[in-house]
Amino acid sequence: MIYPWGTERRLNAYSDYFRRHFGQRVQKITIDAGFTCPNRDGSLGRGGCTFCNNRAFNPSYNHPEKSVRDQILQGMEFHKKRYRKATQYLAYFQAYSNTYADLDKLHALYEEALMVPGIIGIVVGTRPDCVDPLKLDFFQDLSKRCYVVIEYGIESVFDRTLLRVNRGHNVDSTYQAIKETAKRGIHVGGHLIVGLPGERREDFLETARTVSQWPLSSIKFHQLQLIKGTVMARDYQENPGDFMEFTMDSYLLLMMEMLEQLNPAMVVERIAGEVSPGLGLREGWGVRYDAVLRAFEELLEKHDSWQGKNFIATP
Ligand code: SF4
Repeated sequence: MIYPWGTERRLNAYSDYFRRHFGQRVQKITIDAGFTCPNRDGSLGRGGCTFCNNRAFNPSYNHPEKSVRDQILQGMEFHKKRYRKATQYLAYFQAYSNTYADLDKLHALYEEALMVPGIIGIVVGTRPDCVDPLKLDFFQDLSKRCYVVIEYGIESVFDRTLLRVNRGHNVDSTYQAIKETAKRGIHVGGHLIVGLPGERREDFLETARTVSQWPLSSIKFHQLQLIKGTVMARDYQENPGDFMEFTMDSYLLLMMEMLEQLNPAMVVERIAGEVSPGLGLREGWGVRYDAVLRAFEELLEKHDSWQGKNFIATP
């Protein structure tokens, strides 16, 4: 069977989308451009989100002291060893809030990335409260000459959860930022955490239904990673009953139910995350992401399930 996204795979997968869009594999190169975040530098708060530890996500070639260009070149070398065929790259500004600076700085950094041969676009990770109409207009202009994704940390669609994890913004500000970005024709990505405290199975299904009504182009799911030393790790030790415990099997079953609610037009970038060994408080699943995705697609096959099977579009 061919699904609405044009393949026989049971989810609208990011890798297939890129092959359709660019005719080949496109590799992301992560960059730490030395941004901070209003939830850490004191303008909004100091502690940050209780789960935050950007160290857990940065590859070794990322260092804010290095120029953007050097990080990209080293990232390309790193990826060439693994994916020899990749010739097109996206510069992924991942660490902290990559729109949290004045326009001149944003302009200089993003232009520096786009000058590197092989870079065909940028992915900009940020918070919903770190964009404004001028910045979005700037990205709109950029998107007319290269591929641009603004990736928002949604994390949860419940205000009670955002409050508990000290996120510093509410759900409405997330929705408004996504809407304003999409309105300008910019691709909008979203990042969600599955397993934040106080959320249960029905909340996760509600999450999938909610984001399905938002103008997102792509979505990324991560199971909650409890990083040692974070405030959330302490919260977990004090209130373990507030956190869902997932084995890989139980997580994939939940993800399957969520995927069935998800808008089939939305490209699924990831269904789970990996964390560097030694940083996590709970034991990891001990498998690489490729194997997790393979197991997930086998599960979908076994249950005759697919993305959007139970999706209902609201008028
Ligand atoms: S918004 Fe991002 S960088 Fe800032 S505290 Fe939260 S997780 Fe950390």
